[in-house]
Amino acid sequence: MKRRTFIKTLPALTALAASGIALGEDSKPAASPAPDKSGEAPAPGVDAKRLKAKDTLTAIEMDRGEAIAFELLSGAVVRIELLATSARALRTTLKQLKVEESGGRTDYSFSCVLRINGREHTLEREVSTQRSFYEPWAIDGVRLWFDAVQDIFEFLVEAHGECRPRKHARFALQDASARICPEILHAWCPLPEGGLKIGDCYRGEDCWLGAYNGASAHGGLDLNHVEGTPLWAPLDIHDHFYFNSLKMGHNNNRWRGIHRWPNGAEWILQAHHMTELTVEEHMPIKKGEQFAWGAGVLSGAVDHSHFVFKVHDYGETVLLDPWILFWQMYRDKEAAQALQATP
Ligand SMILES: [Zn+2]
Repeated sequence: MKRRTFIKTLPALTALAASGIALGEDSKPAASPAPDKSGEAPAPGVDAKRLKAKDTLTAIEMDRGEAIAFELLSGAVVRIELLATSARALRTTLKQLKVEESGGRTDYSFSCVLRINGREHTLEREVSTQRSFYEPWAIDGVRLWFDAVQDIFEFLVEAHGECRPRKHARFALQDASARICPEILHAWCPLPEGGLKIGDCYRGEDCWLGAYNGASAHGGLDLNHVEGTPLWAPLDIHDHFYFNSLKMGHNNNRWRGIHRWPNGAEWILQAHHMTELTVEEHMPIKKGEQFAWGAGVLSGAVDHSHFVFKVHDYGETVLLDPWILFWQMYRDKEAAQALQATP
């Protein structure tokens, strides 16, 4: 797909490229101390909110200065404190930031500094480059997805779906030895061979929080595929329905499915732009069952499905990058293939 040439390249890009930072990798893989077993690691502290790793990942928003004490499955407690956050535009085609232009593009990076068990780690992400599909960090026994910072709204607006963190930064945490959930995931749609490609996210920008038209943080993950592509349930869906539909007088068909975990967490999955549901609303859907024909309604310049992922737990609903689900789907698919290849 032909892309617009960037008319402004900010110096930060060169600096980033020159630094050779391997984004999305453990920032200090060899140096990280083992999880505390002796009681000598820094105490969780009375100010830290205590959270226990579950068999599903934990979504959390934090303000700078806030700390949490995350208890691993082993019982070891990891103290995680958010020290700093920042974001910067790397390059843009816009005349003015925050003002959409059709086909406009803005790529950016964002970072945070965490103090984990007394040691500082800088985490940096990029959007909407291919690096949007990142590997999570694994630090001191915690798998850590660095989802978003509020600072990106210094140069983006929230006009294309809900996505802004309510606090300075948003993360998903899990015990590094555990999956994102106890169940093997089925593919949500046919998985592109070799992984997700940013060029196939609408016009090459609409990953999670990508700058739609250069200015609006995209509140979902777009995957291009033709009208009539099957959508399957990644998990058993306990309830599902259209919350917007052409039939109800909206401009689009927007579906929501809910999976309730025994541990109390609820996962809310959404898909938009489908032409039709193939399972009646509010009827349960089995994992792997087709529930819709994807793409085709209000899907713009390139037919695609728009995916959304929310975790409802501890009385709060937190939005997360649907890539986290696709990351696990790819791993599950690879594991199944490896098993098949074993005689
Ligand atoms: Zn979209």
